[in-house]
Amino acid sequence: MDVTVGVLALQGDVREHVAALSSAGARAVPVRRTSELDGVDALVLPGGESTTIDKLLRAFDLFEPVQARLRAGMPAYGSCAGMILLADRVLDAIDGQRTLGGVDITVRRNAFGRQVDSFETDLQVTGVPDAEQGPVHAVFIRAPWVEEVGPAATVLARVQDGAAAGRIVAVRQGSLLVTSFHPEVTGDDRVHRLFVGMVRDSR
Ligand code: GLN
Repeated sequence: MDVTVGVLALQGDVREHVAALSSAGARAVPVRRTSELDGVDALVLPGGESTTIDKLLRAFDLFEPVQARLRAGMPAYGSCAGMILLADRVLDAIDGQRTLGGVDITVRRNAFGRQVDSFETDLQVTGVPDAEQGPVHAVFIRAPWVEEVGPAATVLARVQDGAAAGRIVAVRQGSLLVTSFHPEVTGDDRVHRLFVGMVRDSR
C-alpha cells in the first residue's frame, strides 16, 4: 500500500529524511503549509533546533493544524529536535517554549552536552526490520534524552555503553515514534522502514 509521508520543512535536515523515507518505500514530500499537511498520511519532524521550529510552526500558522492532526491520530516520527516537539514535557526548555506533544515522556534538551556534545554509538533498537543485520549506528548531535516514560509509551532503545549508558533514546507510543539520534544521516534506513510500517499499519 502506498503511503505519503510529509517532512516538516521549516528548519533542519529535511532532504536527508525525504531520501530515507523514499528508500523505505514511502512517497515523501516537504510540508510548509496547511494545504501540504492535508495531503499527507503521516509527518516526520526533523532534527534542527526545537525552539526555532516551535517559533516557525507558529509563524507559518502550522502549530495548531499539526497538533490537531496528531490528536486525530496522524502517525509521526520525531528525530532529536523532533523528539522534543512530540514530547509532552521538556526539561531545560527556554522561556515560552511549547511542544506539540503526543508522547507521554519527559525529555531533557541538550542532555548529553554535559559530557559530550555530539557522538556516535551502536544501538539495539526494538522493532526495526532486519535486526539480524546488526545494531543501528546512531548519530547524536546536541541531543535530548528521555528522563521519564509514561505507561502508554514503550522504550525501544537505550545507550549501551559509556557515561550515558542506560539513557533512553528511542520510544514508541501507538503510531508515534521518537529518537534522540539521527538515522537519516547514516544510510541505514531501518528506523524509517519501522516508521513507514507503522504508517501502513495505522491505515
Ligand atoms: N539541541 C537541539 C534542540 O534543543 C536539538 C538538536 C538536534 O536536533 N540535532 O532542539
